[in-house]
Amino acid sequence: MRLRDFPEEELFLQGSAACHGCPGSAAIRVAFKALGRNTVLAVIASCTSVFQSPFPVSALGLPTLNMAFATGGATASGLSAAADRLVAKGVLEEKPTILVWAGDGGTYDIGIQALSGAAERNTDFIYVCYNNEAYSNTGTQRSGATPYAAWTTNTTRGKEEWRKDVAQIMVAHGIPYVATASLAYPTDMFRKFARAKEIKGTRYIEIQAPCPPGWKFPSSHTVKVARLAVQTGMWMLYEHENGRTAYTAGTQRIIQGQSKLLPVEEYLQAQGRFRHLFHPQRDEERIGEIQRRISHVFETLQFTHKMKEHIMDIELAPPH
Ligand code: SF4
Repeated sequence: MRLRDFPEEELFLQGSAACHGCPGSAAIRVAFKALGRNTVLAVIASCTSVFQSPFPVSALGLPTLNMAFATGGATASGLSAAADRLVAKGVLEEKPTILVWAGDGGTYDIGIQALSGAAERNTDFIYVCYNNEAYSNTGTQRSGATPYAAWTTNTTRGKEEWRKDVAQIMVAHGIPYVATASLAYPTDMFRKFARAKEIKGTRYIEIQAPCPPGWKFPSSHTVKVARLAVQTGMWMLYEHENGRTAYTAGTQRIIQGQSKLLPVEEYLQAQGRFRHLFHPQRDEERIGEIQRRISHVFETLQFTHKMKEHIMDIELAPPH
């Protein structure tokens, strides 16, 4: 699949109120193209609740419910059950794709209970976390997804804790499909949405979403920052299906030795939220600790790849 092969129909319409360079609106566009018109959307409190534009107009060209922070999994459970009933009664010919669109605040922190419950029941829906690594719509407060050492308005010297890994928490639920995606690899993202659409049960896709005002970089650099995240190993691309993980796109190329893992400071220096690691003096300890963790993961994966030769998948969890 190439960009020019994406469906022409636009279901994310003109006139959204998103910031210039917003990763959320770009990701929605790709997701809607992959999932198509027979989709029912639940937007969980996030930037998307705001930038879809004020009632009665909307840039979201799908039937949409706007829901509270904690309700992603519960909303999906109700929508999915209702759609099953309508199909059984012959009111609907085909069940629509139930899509929950949430930020990291509504996923990592406030909504994880309902998400976990829905995943444990293997509710039939796709859950998307567009992860801008902070509460951006309320002015950039830390979330459980904010990375170590990053500035937010309430971690002014850099966050002291390491982020949770909710994609791996979802893998541990044993659901049929988990994937991570990046704006810098749109065809990889499109393919993952198209694959998720084919599967029944709970599917989880997490998209790293570099946010220009929150991460403090020029709005024309969104894709560049997203690409650097993958090239430096700060964000990994993979999909997990039937108990196996396959690394994809830029991450796969690094593991297979076709591209080099770039030094993490290239990613850190591209964003003002890490400026305190370099000014007024270089913080060798924290930069070194971040690099050590990334290098350890990639050295392990590259070693495993060499050992397995042609086998690119590593078993992480039992099949559902
Ligand atoms: S704050 Fe960030 S995620 Fe929110 S609308 Fe603006 S660019 Fe998009």
